[in-house]
Amino acid sequence: MRYRVEGDPIFVNNCHCALCQRQTGSTSVVNAFYENERITVTQGEMTEHVVPSGSGGPHTICRCAQCGTAILSYYPRLGRLGAGLRVGTLDDPGALRPDAVIFTASAMPWVSFPEGIPTFEQTYVPAELLPPERLERLMTMVERRKAGEG
Ligand SMILES: [Zn+2]
Repeated sequence: MRYRVEGDPIFVNNCHCALCQRQTGSTSVVNAFYENERITVTQGEMTEHVVPSGSGGPHTICRCAQCGTAILSYYPRLGRLGAGLRVGTLDDPGALRPDAVIFTASAMPWVSFPEGIPTFEQTYVPAELLPPERLERLMTMVERRKAGEG
């Protein structure tokens, strides 16, 4: 499948938690979070696969129906309002840089972390890391979710 995404992400996380390791079969995942309406499927279809999330609710992984590549995820906190797009599926994966490396406490022991990107043993408080305009986009989705959307 192919998709188009518009604008800058709200935040980009490189997550080394145990679930991301298991679900990707790799050291970690790199997700860019966008409002769902910024992402348009332009070709093909996705299948949905529900797996556990760290917070206990359902984490839905959407995969290319043809090749099975994981394209994006919906997490309990934002529901369908916001999607975590796998950065490695972009035409230019190097265009996005993580804002944070998270869950380093559970990283594979031989992994080293990049210079110049904040690292967190678990996670971080968005208000302490994100520029105001990105935080506002996130809080808009959080409020909509609280109001029962998504
Ligand atoms: Zn994770």
